[in-house]
Amino acid sequence: MKYLDEYRDADLTRKLLADLKKIITRPWTLMEVCGGQTHSIIKSGLDQMLPEQITLVHGPGCPVCVTPLEQVDKAIALGALPEVIFSSYGDMLRVPGSSRDLLGVKAAGGDIRIVYSPLDALQIARDNPAKTVVFFAIGFETTAPANAMAVVQAKAQGLDNFAVLVSHVTVPAAIAALMDSPDVQVDGFLAAGHVCTVMGYWEYEPLAEKYKIPIVVTGFEPVDLLHGILECVRQLEAGTHRVGNAYERSVSREGNQPAQAVIRKVFEITDRAWRGMGIIPMSGYRLRPEFAAFDAELRFPAVQAIETKESPLCISGLVLQGRKKPSECAAFGKECTPQTPLGATMVSSEGACAAYYRYGRIAKK
Ligand code: SF4
Repeated sequence: MKYLDEYRDADLTRKLLADLKKIITRPWTLMEVCGGQTHSIIKSGLDQMLPEQITLVHGPGCPVCVTPLEQVDKAIALGALPEVIFSSYGDMLRVPGSSRDLLGVKAAGGDIRIVYSPLDALQIARDNPAKTVVFFAIGFETTAPANAMAVVQAKAQGLDNFAVLVSHVTVPAAIAALMDSPDVQVDGFLAAGHVCTVMGYWEYEPLAEKYKIPIVVTGFEPVDLLHGILECVRQLEAGTHRVGNAYERSVSREGNQPAQAVIRKVFEITDRAWRGMGIIPMSGYRLRPEFAAFDAELRFPAVQAIETKESPLCISGLVLQGRKKPSECAAFGKECTPQTPLGATMVSSEGACAAYYRYGRIAKK
């Protein structure tokens, strides 16, 4: 396949592994931030090919996994209202809430629609003027521009039956929270290439300086990942700490500035709760006051009082912080499978638990 095979090339992979083996002298723990990277690593078996001094731990970069249970329960409550059409990406429908999931709401008669873009939700709102169409606006900086654009368009078109349930989070704040935690021991980060395609990597430079850690923007194919790991280890072995870019074909330092502008136009920074990590200060987006009319939580204030209850068996919070591997969870593959998920990391296509299950990683590395 053109433009992809070269990033899965076996000879190049072997060469990069040999380069890595030549320079490494001591153990290093690296965290890949993104769930897409986690899946690629486990699918390709890259973690098992690396020099034994390297430990890869999986970070909180799966958008479905870090969406707090409270927001999932709010989505379920909104989806059950007869006057609401609730729209969402398909991944969110199977995420377990405190008592059921959105698919359960749909089975009970709720009008839940899977969409592939927030613009699809706008069309549903145009087609159904007697209902309020709520879109579940989750994810990192990658999905924020399209969601922001949908709100801009709804305002411009006077679509007052459209609203968003916002649960946006940002990567730099999560890296800072992990580095501030005494329980998390990470020597370097592989930053998520798609997030940096939107945001650039200038935001990471103060973090690399403050925490004295290398942060390397990294792609998603095995060769991309090895480039990122090699750059990270080179810096660690040399005692340097700066932001590197191992995904130059997509990422520039400044990023996509029109996309950043529409995010800034619609959203402002706020404290956000992360599933398994609690509230991280200034780690997400909320609608600016001038777009408050599109805030589903303000339009349906009853959902603001919702309380949540996590499964006592699930340790996904520790998985999302890189403190445990999925196969160290007692419920992994027993009470918790993709068919009977207890936590979001088993539901999402980007979740670390789902990756371990899918690719048969029962024993820990
Ligand atoms: S295997 Fe299931 S119960 Fe265990 S941490 Fe993962 S999602 Fe939670």
